[in-house]
Amino acid sequence: MSILNNTRELQRIDAAHHLHPFTNTRELNGRGARIITSAKGVYLNDADGNRILDGMSGLWCVNVGHGRKEIVSAVANQMEQLTFYNTFFNTTHPPVIELSRLLSEVTPPQFNYFHFTGSGSDSNDTIFRMARYYWELEGKPEKSIFISRRGAYHGSTVVAASFGGFNSMHKQGGLPIDGIYHAPSPDWWSNGGDLSPEEFGRKVAAQTLALIDGIGAHRIAAMIGEPIMGAGGVIIPPKTYWPIIAQGLKERDILFISDEVICGFGRTGQWFGCEFMGTEPDFMTMAKGITSGYVPMGAVAVSDRVAKVLIEKGDEFTHGYTYSGHPAACAASIATIGIMRSEKLVEHVREDVGPYLKEKWLTLADHPMVGEAVMEGLIGAFQFTSNKSARAGFPEAAKIGFTAREHSFQNGLVMRAVGDRMVIAPPLTLTRAEADDLVEKAARVTDLTY
Ligand code: PLP
Repeated sequence: MSILNNTRELQRIDAAHHLHPFTNTRELNGRGARIITSAKGVYLNDADGNRILDGMSGLWCVNVGHGRKEIVSAVANQMEQLTFYNTFFNTTHPPVIELSRLLSEVTPPQFNYFHFTGSGSDSNDTIFRMARYYWELEGKPEKSIFISRRGAYHGSTVVAASFGGFNSMHKQGGLPIDGIYHAPSPDWWSNGGDLSPEEFGRKVAAQTLALIDGIGAHRIAAMIGEPIMGAGGVIIPPKTYWPIIAQGLKERDILFISDEVICGFGRTGQWFGCEFMGTEPDFMTMAKGITSGYVPMGAVAVSDRVAKVLIEKGDEFTHGYTYSGHPAACAASIATIGIMRSEKLVEHVREDVGPYLKEKWLTLADHPMVGEAVMEGLIGAFQFTSNKSARAGFPEAAKIGFTAREHSFQNGLVMRAVGDRMVIAPPLTLTRAEADDLVEKAARVTDLTY
């Protein structure tokens, strides 16, 4: 038998030679990693012959669903035409030109300039330098500090992980770097106490602005935040939260960076999460959905106001990645945006499958072990609770999350666990029948029946 057909042997080799990201390799020796072999639409197939609903769109990225021939042929055609050329030193190529034009159409009106990167982490590292450079050009080099939030995830490079608010990440490698402060998370369920969500949103926004004022706005370059925290557990802030912060940043002359790596490209039922939250950021960092995950790519959208200063006052921006604007990634992105437009996927999420899934999903909170269930567009979560009225999580949160995740996978649904919070973000192509399948399988994780 070929090794490739022998699942256990493949798992052994994987554990012997592959250091996985975000995985305990020691545990893999006993259990073996799950091997995914193919996928179509919203379903995956594994090496043991199971069909599994991909409730996480890969890793929040395969927004137009798996196995789209349009993207595969666009990438293949591009690779035949021009496999690689860089965009450094006054060179460019047709796919990066076309993608820049398309992005200026689908992003909010203040964005007409795009800087390409290889990932979401690269995009967030880029913004660190670009925002500081902007203030240097404006004659205010003392504006160099960044505000982020506890519980946020912004990537794994040194700057991006420092923007992030996870102690577990900071512990490894001596992070965060200097100059990054973390404001409280707008997680109402865990921290809201007796306040209504709206009151809590106002309170956390005020605490954030107080942190800024304590540091001194004249020292602060920018604040970064996701419209909805994704990898932090799908924390959907109260409606009052972002508008107060965005206004406060504007009044204090602090740049606002919307990390759209998860929320961008239709996830919330708007093209970008900042539109869902009603804010107008100065930068957006993007990745994942930009190519639907078919080829790695990231980008930074730069507002006209910032771009004008960079272009008119600046010199060469000495920053870039070999693969900035890779032709194959550009082709994947152009094809992705084409599919999103022709299939009206943003409208599909906003007006059809999003509200349909939400109504069913929220009923998960009827279970005594579920504290809250939330969903906007096609991003949602439910929270396990050990005491519903006290809004208490689980003492060994990671354990219950891990067990639930494995149970769910065996049941045929990929969910991700963030501590004791189960998160979901299926492809935007999800149909109503697939949404039924998803909720039925998620409910089985809590032993609910429908
Ligand atoms: N920003 C957010 C909000 C993310 O969720 C992620 C990844 O999950 C990143 C940035 C980092 O993106 P990448 O993994 O492409 O570096």
